[in-house]
Amino acid sequence: NFISAVVPSCEIGVKFDDIGALEDVKKALNELVILPMRRPELFSRGNLLRPCKGILLFGPPGTGKTLLAKALATEAGTNFLSITGSILTSKWFGDAEKLTKALFSFASKLAPVIIFVDEIDSLLGARGGSFEHEATRRMRNEFMAAWDGLRSKESQRILILGATNRPFDLDDAVIRRLPRRIYVDLPDAVNRMKILRIFLAQENLDSNFEYDKLANLTEGYSGSDLKNLCIASAYRPVQELLEEENKRGNSSPSPALRPLNLDDFVQAKSKVGPSVAYDAASMN
Ligand code: ATP
Repeated sequence: NFISAVVPSCEIGVKFDDIGALEDVKKALNELVILPMRRPELFSRGNLLRPCKGILLFGPPGTGKTLLAKALATEAGTNFLSITGSILTSKWFGDAEKLTKALFSFASKLAPVIIFVDEIDSLLGARGGSFEHEATRRMRNEFMAAWDGLRSKESQRILILGATNRPFDLDDAVIRRLPRRIYVDLPDAVNRMKILRIFLAQENLDSNFEYDKLANLTEGYSGSDLKNLCIASAYRPVQELLEEENKRGNSSPSPALRPLNLDDFVQAKSKVGPSVAYDAASMN
């Protein structure tokens, strides 16, 4: 049960090309992870170019951190395990300390592997002082010890990739173990356009559909918000067709679905707005 909880079943096989924008993030991940995993011989001499054992993706919710982690495993040709604090501390699976040991032992058998720790602040956040549950404290210590133990040749092919919206909640000891920290920002208008093009690539759009106008109308939207907006907009022609059918009755043939136009998005905006008011300055 625990194993199936940490091996994700969806969005596996997603690639960098399925992710709009975030070019700098993809470039950094290419240098830090993909190259060392794919060409280990280039990183085996000297001490400077050692594969990185810990990377942090941080930034507002819905900006594609989880998607990037999964795509990274595809691009680097590694296995992928995904954990959250709630999986390790769940009463369903048993003792958190033992599960942590099992996780690292499983990972060493799966290497090369990326262990993705989503909401790493909830698993390894600042210590809870005397209020902290003893089991949580032991699990955290076990996690850190196992992480530090990643020294053998095989375990150099195990990467801990953390993601958080709340980097300032992380324990200093955890921050030190994540020497590379990459900010995953909300998209600006140009990048929103790139993301929208991915979501709308297969849709029937009006012949003069203006992506740039839509990008300008969606200030503050994350990638996830844009996806929800596209879904809500795509529903409008369907809704109209159903209403039309109702009016005509069952006897006459169904009219065809009309193409999506900019007004569908303008109308859908009242239902799907930007979900985060994020102060990027507080992240740095
Ligand atoms: P959270 O911090 O809330 O966990 P996150 O940063 O991990 O969010 P994801 O879960 O990766 O965000 O994104 C949610 C969904 O939004 C993705 O499954 C994808 O459909 C869409 N998405 C977000 N950003 C992008 C992007 N740049 N390109 C394509 N799809 C995106």
